[in-house]
Amino acid sequence: MTCPQCQQPIPAKSLWTTSGFSGIICPGCSASLTPKPLTAILLFVMSIGLGDLALVLLRKNGAGLLLAFVGFFLVTTAVFALAAPLVLQMRPKDHGPSGSSAHHVA
Ligand SMILES: [Zn+2]
Repeated sequence: MTCPQCQQPIPAKSLWTTSGFSGIICPGCSASLTPKPLTAILLFVMSIGLGDLALVLLRKNGAGLLLAFVGFFLVTTAVFALAAPLVLQMRPKDHGPSGSSAHHVA
């Protein structure tokens, strides 16, 4: 995961801000960044999918519903945290969707 503006690697801990993914700041050039929607969806689907798999496996092995749900949340959170730096791609927040022809002059 690198900054689209300065090409510096963005440390995973930069993702974990109080405002969530909407408030990511590049430590290299201080650009406001936001994840590309598709990569955010991919990350979401991956973590929920594997969490769901854990839930099904736990239930199959005789785990109670509560334990299965705990497993679901643990796996979902772990996958989310581990995969986020690998899956997410950033784009500058202020520039809007790429290909937009709108130019704002301050
Ligand atoms: Zn940067």
